[in-house]
Amino acid sequence: MQLLSDRILNMSVSATLAMAAKARELRGEGKDIIGLSLGEPDFNTPDFIKDAAINAINENYNSYSPVDGYGDLKEAIITKFKRDNNLIYTPAQIVVSTGAKQCLANIAGVMLNAGDEVILPCPYWVSYSDIVKLNDGVPVEVKTSIDTNFKMTPAQLEAAITPKTKMIWFSSPCNPSGSVYSKEELRGLANVLVKHPNIYVVSDEIYEHINYIGGHASIAEFEDMYDRTITVNGVSKAFAMTGWRIGYIGAPEKIARACNKLQGQVTSGANCIAQRAVITALNESPSRVQYMIDEFKERRDLVLDLLNNIDGFKTNTPDGAFYVFPNVSAYFGKTLNGKTINNATDFSLYLLEEALVATVTGDAFGNPDCIRISYAASKELIIEAIKRIKEAVS
Ligand code: PMP
Ligand code: GLU
Repeated sequence: MQLLSDRILNMSVSATLAMAAKARELRGEGKDIIGLSLGEPDFNTPDFIKDAAINAINENYNSYSPVDGYGDLKEAIITKFKRDNNLIYTPAQIVVSTGAKQCLANIAGVMLNAGDEVILPCPYWVSYSDIVKLNDGVPVEVKTSIDTNFKMTPAQLEAAITPKTKMIWFSSPCNPSGSVYSKEELRGLANVLVKHPNIYVVSDEIYEHINYIGGHASIAEFEDMYDRTITVNGVSKAFAMTGWRIGYIGAPEKIARACNKLQGQVTSGANCIAQRAVITALNESPSRVQYMIDEFKERRDLVLDLLNNIDGFKTNTPDGAFYVFPNVSAYFGKTLNGKTINNATDFSLYLLEEALVATVTGDAFGNPDCIRISYAASKELIIEAIKRIKEAVS
């Protein structure tokens, strides 16, 4: 009998984590790799949050928490949703999980039956497609391009809907494109969805605060979308807390209860110390972390400036998150230093081997013409990395 399940054999490895592991391995061999592959803030978690965690340890928070999160953390999340997003939730609508990634896995686990279709505007975050497939769903990719700032139009959404469509999943600000949907654009998509009352929306807002144009909008804000939207968020990005592993959802009660049930059998409540620290993080004004956003914006401008000096990189201006997603198809079919570049994966590997710079192929995000460059790295590293890239392709 086969040792491993078809389920796991058919699943791809997370390309972002795989590239980070590869960069780590090459560094171990003594190679001076610059990692621009992982979407992980290079800041320390702010002291006021660390202090809250230290206090929680000293106060002997060491037991299992409620599966769906501490009551006072849920209250902090409710306050945050109201303050930042104009969304009103009750405690029964909130579930705290081990990162937004687990939130997404819970949602897929409790909502998908075999063959249910999930619309994914491309480019989408790397794990969406595999989480959907792992739960017997069928990802339906909607292609967008750099010329439309990688945003899906209402007409494209309409065309992708079939009787099997169960959900649409998207992130705004988007990983990997950095695109931010305005309230008007979300209304355009909502106008299509109101004609299809059985379709649910997963709105991944984990980059909410990393927005350079302001005006973050949540699709659940529309009264006719509220009952059909699961709003996903977390602290990994804005608070530089990737390793603390806390994410949360605001959802229709039935869905939240189902996530709670699933989590109760699979992981139990998220880490108790991290949950205590997140109460402090969310109760503070987001202005406490503005210094990181300001720095990311400077880096975005720097990266664009430098990339636009390299022939063959076509960029747009990402309005949020900390990625640029240049179209590099101008290199396809060319031979660089004896290596033929046929696609974005070849190009990304070429940059790793020749420039010692780790990026991620756009293929992993459903767009084979682009690569993702994370600028969650210091300006010095960004300057050096793009200098190396320029040399390697010229
Ligand atoms: N959604 C998006 C769009 C992301 O980029 C990430 C990155 N980690 C996640 C969800 C998951 O975040 P986490 O599990 O760290 O909360
Ligand atoms: N979300 C980050 C990224 O896209 C972290 C890696 C991961 O969780 O896949 O790089």
